[in-house]
Amino acid sequence: MALKKVLVVTGGSRGIGAATARLAAARGYAVCINYRHNEAAAQAVVEEIAHAGGKAIAMAGDVGNEADVMRLFAEVDEKLGPVTALVNNAGILERQMRVEEMDAARLSRVLTTNVIGSFLCAREAVRRMSTRHGGQGGAIVNVSSIASRLGAPDEYVDYAAAKGAIDSFTIGLAKEVAGEGIRVNAVRPGVIYTEIHASGGEPDRVERVKAGVPMQRGGQPEEVARAILWLLSDEASYSTGALLDVTGGR
Ligand code: NAP
Repeated sequence: MALKKVLVVTGGSRGIGAATARLAAARGYAVCINYRHNEAAAQAVVEEIAHAGGKAIAMAGDVGNEADVMRLFAEVDEKLGPVTALVNNAGILERQMRVEEMDAARLSRVLTTNVIGSFLCAREAVRRMSTRHGGQGGAIVNVSSIASRLGAPDEYVDYAAAKGAIDSFTIGLAKEVAGEGIRVNAVRPGVIYTEIHASGGEPDRVERVKAGVPMQRGGQPEEVARAILWLLSDEASYSTGALLDVTGGR
């Protein structure tokens, strides 16, 4: 019998995470939609998936909090069965500013959610999926950003550096678990229409930046979700440690 596909999407309640959760459910995954604060948004995605005949649950938890992450994966074990796939999507950025204005509290928040959160969730997934621990293998996709290559000057170099860490994390973890049935890849989106830009203080940022995108447009969350689902799938069976840019050529 084929292994039941169980996916955890962190930050699955809005934006790219919600698009990923919807597409994964349509492709037969039982999905755990993690979120931090906005329960209504998470429940709306769960209901949409249920309405379409899929299976999903919503689970609150801060990915940067170790106890929350351990509880999240323990509840997934109980409610959906052993995890077979993880999308490390939860991410934050803060108000646009130059590096000389950033204080330690902000740097800590940005690095904790974006970097430590991804490590903690991957750790819990590897403990369950690795053949070394009696698991049946699986796949992880980290949601990085093309900011890791561009650097985000005058906006959020801290965020870009956090995503640079995610790129290195992807390469290192991919090699570490390649012989244990787990593939680890990343997508690096360009400017995508989501609410994240409002956190930077510029809700319409995509409109300003899109002229510099070779395709002359911003991307839709669904266009990133399709790349993520491909990397999770057996179609990508020989890809690990890859960084897939989804940027319209930027
Ligand atoms: P978004 O619309 O702002 O949604 C963020 C999601 O992450 C929400 O579900 C939010 O839940 C959740 N979240 C935030 N902090 C969390 C935490 N500490 N623990 C658990 N969940 C948390 O963001 P998005 O634009 O879809 O971005 C998703 C990922 O894509 C991020 O990693 C981002 O860096 C990356 N990315 C985005 C773009 C873009 O242009 N949009 C480009 C490149 C990369 P609550 O609502 O409950 O807080």
